[in-house]
Amino acid sequence: MEIDQQKIPQATAKRLPLYYRFLESLQASGKHRVSSSELSDAVKVDSATIRRDFSYFGALGKKGYGYNVNYLLSFFRKTLDQDEVTKVILVGVGNLGTAFLNYNFTKSNNTRIEMAFDVSPDKVGDEIGSVPIFHLDELKEKISSAGDVEVAILTVPANAAQPIADQLVEVGIKAILNFTPARLSVPENVRIHHIDLSVELQSLVYFLKHYPM
Ligand code: ATP
Repeated sequence: MEIDQQKIPQATAKRLPLYYRFLESLQASGKHRVSSSELSDAVKVDSATIRRDFSYFGALGKKGYGYNVNYLLSFFRKTLDQDEVTKVILVGVGNLGTAFLNYNFTKSNNTRIEMAFDVSPDKVGDEIGSVPIFHLDELKEKISSAGDVEVAILTVPANAAQPIADQLVEVGIKAILNFTPARLSVPENVRIHHIDLSVELQSLVYFLKHYPM
């Protein structure tokens, strides 16, 4: 079935990787079907939302049967481009950047950090988790020889973030996962997702204190 990607709401699209990961583990354990309440327990999304999400791509589920795991997975694979590896670069090989290079996301999905950039002579020329680290001056050259790189992770100090974002845009990056506290200005056709870990942690502590479960 052909699905018009434009019609899937953004909130639904954001949950797809979550569903995908759980369904993959179900398939690996030999399960062929799953109910929305089972899924709901596993991914912590209420089952009405799951049913609505799935209805956008024609997976209606059958009463007493649930959803077909293989059908869902093949749909997700296509939608999330899991058949293709998405190349990612990382700028700033500090503590956080180093952790990402070692982790490198390949276990949970098909994105891979292909190369990293830094300016420190201590880091340039090294490899971490078999990802080579180049000098930022080589950004343009390395990106054009790798081809097809549109996603960057930014883990530099806040004051370096904007000029680096400008450079990334110039070399054709279309999506930036920004781990710095800096709010970045980029052209409209570039997507930024901002993750400030210390704000997230503070907000978690606030909710713990003021909104006990
Ligand atoms: P983290 O914030 O990840 O814990 P850290 O405390 O080890 O890192 P930071 O000072 O935040 O270090 O720097 C992160 C990395 O960014 C370092 O490896 C540093 O060399 C690099 N860096 C600093 N300025 C730039 C820049 N202008 N371009 C590229 N990399 C830079």
